[in-house]
Amino acid sequence: MNRREFISTSFISLTTMESLKDLRSFGEALPSAETMPMLFVGHGSPMNAVEENEFSAGWRKVGKELPTPQAILCISAHWETRGTYVTAMEKPKTIYDFYGFPPEMYNLKYPAPGNLALAQETTTLVKKAKVQLDSEWGLDHGSWSVLRRMYPDANIPALQLSIDHFKSPEWHYQLAQELAALRKKGVLILGSGNMVHNLRMVNWENPHEPYDWAQEANAKFKELIAGGNHRPLIEYSTLGKAAMLSVPTPEHYLPMLYILGLKGEREAIQFFNDKAVMGSVSMTSFRVG
Ligand code: ZN
Repeated sequence: MNRREFISTSFISLTTMESLKDLRSFGEALPSAETMPMLFVGHGSPMNAVEENEFSAGWRKVGKELPTPQAILCISAHWETRGTYVTAMEKPKTIYDFYGFPPEMYNLKYPAPGNLALAQETTTLVKKAKVQLDSEWGLDHGSWSVLRRMYPDANIPALQLSIDHFKSPEWHYQLAQELAALRKKGVLILGSGNMVHNLRMVNWENPHEPYDWAQEANAKFKELIAGGNHRPLIEYSTLGKAAMLSVPTPEHYLPMLYILGLKGEREAIQFFNDKAVMGSVSMTSFRVG
């Protein structure tokens, strides 16, 4: 679960660029009334990728309930960059961005295909940043640990959009809005992080007892999300001590702002996996739409 900061310097090869010219834009629009739901998922420990527990069961369940997506675009806490990138490769590799876990964890594969046309379309859609095509990343555990439960056949194209480490919460919230058209094409936009995430404060002695501040912040965040009151969530640093302890660094929180930025005013919210672990991490997840 160590945060791996990745400042990408890679650019897609010229040959790939040439092949992209031939691709039409990604998919056809859904009938106008249809919009793909979205998810924010608390991913927690990489062990959730292999352990049968209430969280992995929750991911499996939501995967079955959602309409089958045409593709998945994941904003994972574990891909931070300078600038904004979208993965653009035919076969994204499974990335083992964690240390000291059992050997079998490093043998897991999530062989979902990529989709170059969707990557290209994402670069065109987003105006707030010059989104660049990336040929180096793949799927980090923020994505695949969840996706292997939701879509175990790994037959749905899966892409990642990076988080620009140097931008504000407001900037990310606004960029998210520019992805809205993808929902109309059946793309599942998945934010993967943890809304309460303080690994320095993990309570090893009593991991089943959440700290008061973790509970307080989790409840406050949920209340604001349910009420559609996004402004204080964007400006979370003004929400007081519980929020500051819960979001000591932004990378696990920001994927949630992507989902909120994309949420229509009337869209329903359903929470699931609403539980704290290790005292200082909440697994609280929600579906929009
Ligand atoms: Zn994480």
